[in-house]
Amino acid sequence: MKGYRLRDQMNSIAEPPIKTWFWELEAAVIEADRCVQCGVCVAVCPSNSIGVQALTNVPELVKMCTGCSLCWDFCPRAGLRYEATWHDDDDTWHGNERDLGDPAAQEEDWMITGDDGDVGLGQVIETYAVRASKTVDGAQDGGAVSAILAGLLSAGAIDGALVSKPSEDPEEPWKGVATIARTPREVYAASGSFYNQTMALAALDLSRYALPSRPRIAVVGTPCEVQGLRAMQLRPWSTGAHRVDAVVLTIALLCTKSFDYEALILRELQRTRGVDLDRVKKIDVVRGRLIVEYTDGAIAVDESIRDFHGAALKGCDECADFLGRAADLSVGSVGSIDGWTSVVVRTERGRAALDKARPVLDLREIDDVSALIRLDELNKKVADNALQRPFDPDASMFIDFSEHVQSYSGTDRQPVSLRR
Ligand SMILES: Cc1cc2nc3c(=O)[nH]c(=O)nc-3n(C[C@H](O)[C@H](O)[C@H](O)COP(=O)(O)OP(=O)(O)OC[C@H]3O[C@@H](n4cnc5c(N)ncnc54)[C@H](O)[C@@H]3O)c2cc1C
Ligand code: SF4
Ligand code: SF4
Repeated sequence: MKGYRLRDQMNSIAEPPIKTWFWELEAAVIEADRCVQCGVCVAVCPSNSIGVQALTNVPELVKMCTGCSLCWDFCPRAGLRYEATWHDDDDTWHGNERDLGDPAAQEEDWMITGDDGDVGLGQVIETYAVRASKTVDGAQDGGAVSAILAGLLSAGAIDGALVSKPSEDPEEPWKGVATIARTPREVYAASGSFYNQTMALAALDLSRYALPSRPRIAVVGTPCEVQGLRAMQLRPWSTGAHRVDAVVLTIALLCTKSFDYEALILRELQRTRGVDLDRVKKIDVVRGRLIVEYTDGAIAVDESIRDFHGAALKGCDECADFLGRAADLSVGSVGSIDGWTSVVVRTERGRAALDKARPVLDLREIDDVSALIRLDELNKKVADNALQRPFDPDASMFIDFSEHVQSYSGTDRQPVSLRR
């Protein structure tokens, strides 16, 4: 292991007490196949010692580890007690002071004890079903996320958004890669869901992008990415190249599971099921099934998600944050009819973002908010099971959520107006 070799080369220099080194994270999380490829350890490292392995998309040491312990402390599969980042009504800690230009959002606080943050939906101000007023090509559900980001960019409320765009490598069809979109056009080009983790927070090294010196960035990520980000903002330190301080808005994608790119897309879909990836219009995990649709409308795959268990990231079994409770906005398909996105507004900052993007959004009441809570409870049971047993890939659950999620078939409702 690279880390141990480096340590051996240190000529027995005495270590300060209570140091945790990268290779301890490497052994306990990465080599144990528990890494969920969030990129938190890369972003938190003050000496920029952690990079991303090109082939496997997991962290690796690229220069000397100083034993600062931060990668361990902030990793959601290691030292991070991520419930501590969940909001509470009795918020007391002042976090990121940057805002979206709305005075109400400047009083944004978060709780650092996580008291009742796991009850129901967690902290909620409002819930909506949202869609883009103008159809977004390639959007996963209502195109709400893309429209919100584009609206914020157009309004001058943010300078960029961390999103996932399709890989430009022809050998990597349907692989999402993290990028900073700086224009509405770039945001729309990155719409839709990629069922692979992108080491997103590693992309917060903004030096590659032309941005103002104090950029304001919105982050779209899976809940584990938002947990790590929030934790980093809650405990400011002298950062390396990654601009955690620049993040003014977090949007969490509801998430029960993500996948290894090679295993899901290339092995299970392309090689095992003969899917022609060049013809694919959309890949969706919905109502307990994985559905692959071609551009001509033909359905290439419609199969229980259980059949793809072997391609999922094993570390996801331990995750109990389906609802992205640490985010400003949590978004997903569950709870709204097809063509709409469920949006949980958790903070004043989230509400300010929705207000600023309001001209490009249709909003109405969410269809079935209890569907989100039911799925969250099931997700927590999976995590409980995973944490209480020695890991057994065959026994680890892939719940068939279809029984628990209402099937919506064209029961549209009349739009209702937002608060004003
Ligand atoms: C791995 C994964 C699992 C999900 N699981 C569920 C679920 O179980 N239940 C549920 O209701 N919803 C789930 N979602 C969310 C859902 O698929 C949609 O992303 C959400 O409803 C928003 O739809 P939209 O049309 O508003 O977004 P769009 O306008 O299509 O925008 C989606 C945004 O997400 C970004 N993005 C895409 N893939 C990733 C990624 N892998 N990591 C970070 N950012 C990304 C895109 O770049 C884009 O900015 C999941 C999404 C992902 C990526
Ligand atoms: S889970 Fe995230 S923080 Fe932990 S090792 Fe993997 S990429 Fe790093
Ligand atoms: S299930 Fe949890 S750990 Fe896995 S990608 Fe989703 S949020 Fe991250």
